[in-house]
Formats: sequence, structure tokens, C-alpha cells
Amino acid sequence: MAATIEMNVMKRVAVVGAGLGGLTVAGFLQRAGFPVTVYEQAPSFSRIGAGIILSANAMKAFRRLGIEQSLVETGIRPMSYVSRAWNTGDIMYEIFFDAASEARFGGPYLNIHRGDLHGVLERVVAPDTIVFNHRLVGLDETHDAVLLAFDNGLRVEADIVIGADGIRSKVREHLLGTEPPRFAGAVAQRAVFPTARLGKLKIPDCTKWWGPDRHALPYFMTSRRDEIYVIGVLPAREWDGDVSSLPCSRDEMLEAFAGFHDDFRRILEVAEDVSLWPIYDRERHDRWSGGRVVLLGDACHPMRPYMAAGGAMAVEDGTILSRCLEKFEDYHEAFAWYATTRIPRVADVQRISTENSWMRGPTETDWFYCYDPCVAPLTPPN
Ligand SMILES: Cc1cc2nc3c(=O)[nH]c(=O)nc-3n(C[C@H](O)[C@H](O)[C@H](O)COP(=O)(O)OP(=O)(O)OC[C@H]3O[C@@H](n4cnc5c(N)ncnc54)[C@H](O)[C@@H]3O)c2cc1C
Repeated sequence: MAATIEMNVMKRVAVVGAGLGGLTVAGFLQRAGFPVTVYEQAPSFSRIGAGIILSANAMKAFRRLGIEQSLVETGIRPMSYVSRAWNTGDIMYEIFFDAASEARFGGPYLNIHRGDLHGVLERVVAPDTIVFNHRLVGLDETHDAVLLAFDNGLRVEADIVIGADGIRSKVREHLLGTEPPRFAGAVAQRAVFPTARLGKLKIPDCTKWWGPDRHALPYFMTSRRDEIYVIGVLPAREWDGDVSSLPCSRDEMLEAFAGFHDDFRRILEVAEDVSLWPIYDRERHDRWSGGRVVLLGDACHPMRPYMAAGGAMAVEDGTILSRCLEKFEDYHEAFAWYATTRIPRVADVQRISTENSWMRGPTETDWFYCYDPCVAPLTPPN
């Protein structure tokens, strides 16, 4: 065991991207003794106006990283998640989150503002681990190392490179060639505004409104219930790939969700700070590594956000990848175990996300929420 740790300490790991997956894997690898640096293109973390749902499977990894309690204090544990029919308002499915469900799933279900999440998440790595303002522009593998080139002219060497650089991953390009992500034929209208705008109107913590070709999800992001996030997804023929988002308006949201139940439209009537985002994904592929380079999260398997699970998959990936690198001295072996462990589960989540069927009606949720990436069995390669 001492010999394994000594070998691992020698492996310099470069993580590209300080998102959910990159920081998770970096946090675990540092705890296992690896020297890790995370290279992030952004100048700092910004407070992107959007919420995110983190289910119990991801929260178990955050518990091990020591941030579960801070996340719970920052976000909200919703009382339930309810699916309702767009026109009649009929309840199609409801799952309650309470002490019993937390005991069953092994952790809480959390809704949180993305900016607040990152504020807590950056604590999982040692100070100065994240190097901002470094956009990866090239990778070059030699026999015994990988050279990383950044847009600011810096060149560094690492033994292993983990591509956690999201849907337009440069690391993926190195492994699989240039291939733009696929526009999913849908866009997301997103709004964030103070609950005070609702006046006396009381709303549940988290509701998904299901229409024939569109859906919407309003939820709170703090336990004070003082800020609401609404995401509405609707079909769109095209999107200019050079544009990351566009301004949008309350009126456009009201128009897109015309005919929806009043319980939802009353929220839209006071919506503010509305923007429009494209939805992209990629077709499944099962090559997750090559040489000294490995992918995780959206760099590897971006999915439509309809199951609210892409971030949780990145967290699970980071947890399992770190376990494999800790267990196997040979990184080829580690990468092979990582991929065989992850691919079947990620493929199911990717499929359900594309179908947009999660919790539309009675749904068996244990296989997803009860999963614990910190202890789940690792699968040997065929
Ligand atoms: C509308 C919408 C709603 C969603 N809702 C949910 C939800 O409720 N729950 C959930 O679990 N998931 C949700 N997702 C999915 C989730 O956001 C992603 O799956 C998740 O963020 C992926 O994490 P990641 O770490 O792989 O990548 P990212 O979070 O994309 O992080 C990648 C990082 O890499 C950096 N980077 C990129 N290129 C470079 C480069 N060349 N050099 C250096 N750094 C680079 C980026 O700046 C970024 O910080 C949603 C997605 C969308 C689009």
C-alpha cells in the first residue's frame, strides 16, 4: 500500500475545467496524495443566473469531500418534486423529500443557485489548486508525459490529463477529433427573480409542468425561499452556434407558455431577468480515454437537461475516476475500469434525458438516487 501511494504521488495530474466534474475529481485525487492542478479558462467564477438540482447520489460524494452541510445550508431541500399536467394541473407524479426519503436514498435532494454552488465547491481543493485565465489550446502526448498549451502562452507538463472542460471540450477534440455538439432542437428560457414579486401567491418548492412539446420547471434556490428560478424548454428550429445566449423577455415566456395552467402563468407574469439558451447534446460514444488522457462529465457525455442529471453524472464520474486512479497504479488499467463502471449507468441516464420521461408518471427512482459513487462496485473491463 505504501508503495502504491508513493507511485501515485509521482503522477502529476492536470485537470482541465473547474466545473462540477473537474473540482470533484481534483478534490478526491488531492486527498489520495496526487499533485493536482486545475486549469480554468474563466478569469473567476461568475454568478450565472440559473439554478441546479443535485440529487442524493451526488450529495454523497460531496459529503465525502466535506461540503454537504454547507451546500444544504446554502441551497434548499425541497419538500417535494411534483409533476403536473400543463392544462388541467392534474398531478401526474409526486415524490416527497423528508427524513424517510433521505434515509432511503442516503442523502438529501438539493436545489441551489449555480453561483452559490461554486462558492462552496471551490473549497474541496487546496488553495491555489485552481489556475484561472488558462484556456487550453493544445495537447501533445510524448512517450512519458503530456504537454498542455494555454492561450496565455504557458506550457506545462503532466503525467495524466483529465478533460473536464464541458460540452465544447478541447481535450475531447484531441482524443476524438473536431465535432461540434448537436443542437437538440430546443431552447431554454431562464428567469431568476425575488419571490417578493409573487406577492401573496404561495407556490410549492419544485414543480415540473408537462406540456405536449414543451415543459417548465419553477423552483426555489434557497431555504429562505426568497429567490425563484424558472426554466422553460420549448422547440426551436435552429440556433446560431456562435452565440452562447440571448436576451429574452417575460412576454416571450408568457407567449411560449400560452394555455398553460394559471398556477404556472401567475409565476411567469412577474418573471424578471429572462434569457434564452440553446440546448445541445452529443450522441453516445464509448471511447472515454486514449493514452494519458481521459474525459469526464459533459466533455464526454453531454445530455439534454430534462432529467436534471448531467451535473450529478459529472460528480459521479469524478468520484469513480479518482477511485480507479487510486486503486490501479497503471493509468491504462484505471481508465479502463473507470469506463466500464460508468458507461452503462451514464447510457441509461442519457437515454432517459433524451426521452424526457423521468418522473412524468410513476417512476422507480431508487436505482438513481440510492447509488453511492464512493462505494459502488467497480466493474472490470471485458
Ligand atoms: C439549461 C440546463 C439546465 C441544467 N440543469 C441541471 C440540473 O438541474 N442538474 C444537473 O445535475 N445538471 C443540470 N444540467 C447539466 C449540467 O449543468 C452539466 O451536465 C454540468 O455542468 C457538467 O459539468 P462538467 O463539470 O462536466 O462541465 P461544466 O460545468 O461545463 O464545466 C466545464 C468547465 O471547463 C471550463 N473550460 C471549458 N473549456 C476550457 C478550456 N479550453 N480550457 C480551460 N477551461 C475550459 C469551463 O469554463 C467550465 O468551467 C443542466 C444543463 C443545462 C444546459
